[in-house]
Amino acid sequence: MSRYTLVAFHAHPDDEALLTGGLLARAARDGHRVVLVTATDGELGLAGRDDGTGDRLAGTRSAELEAAAWVLGCARVARLGHPDSGLRPDPDDRTCFAHLDVEPVARQLADLLRAEAADVLTIYDGNGGYGHPDHVQVHRVGLRAAELAGTPVVLEATVPDRLFAWALRALAVLRHPLGGSAPLGTTRVFAAPRTITHRVRVGAVAERKRAAMAAHGSQRRGGDGRRMLDRAATLPMPLFRLVFGREWYVEHGRPAPSRLDDVFATLRAGDPA
Ligand SMILES: [Zn+2]
Repeated sequence: MSRYTLVAFHAHPDDEALLTGGLLARAARDGHRVVLVTATDGELGLAGRDDGTGDRLAGTRSAELEAAAWVLGCARVARLGHPDSGLRPDPDDRTCFAHLDVEPVARQLADLLRAEAADVLTIYDGNGGYGHPDHVQVHRVGLRAAELAGTPVVLEATVPDRLFAWALRALAVLRHPLGGSAPLGTTRVFAAPRTITHRVRVGAVAERKRAAMAAHGSQRRGGDGRRMLDRAATLPMPLFRLVFGREWYVEHGRPAPSRLDDVFATLRAGDPA
């Protein structure tokens, strides 16, 4: 059976666990090479009082990223180290990741894709999921990098938008602070179900996904009240499997909607028998 190299490009430490943790753990378990790349060290993320800020928080989050990557079975972690933009960057700040020119950053990622002979690159959907500017930039940079490097398969990690809306409504009914609106109050989040090509079952590696989430301690402590990541990482396993046992992807060039489970299907179809 062919072994492929999958590169997962993410905005901040902890995104890899939440959005793609199951896929990464499953691919690694099946013997594929999994490489994790982060655009920023997440130094503007909400963290606990004792986690520090700026460089100190970046250091903490990088260590958490390494721990999560180890749990997921990643062979390599590469940190591009661009400045975290935060949810609402200053429009005049040209140095934060979200506002960088796409081309030079895409060339940086393309070099890595070529060096790894990457078969698959994961990025985010065009809305950047719930709209964080760094996530939108991951979409733009990743698309261009794959084009430059000739990476054959590009997968956008996403969630069916209706399911996301339903989950927000459920949280609102439960009077949970996350309910009612997306973090940026946008109505355009994630992807329409008719565009989704893959619904990947990750229940078999759910314990690894949960452990990877749990590794991001600083993101479980910050802000008001208990954070979503902390609630997720402490769900009992059967409930965790129910909520986090599937991941959704949009593969470029694949007919949709579809419910493929194998993200390497396109590559396998092209392999000599
Ligand atoms: Zn993020």
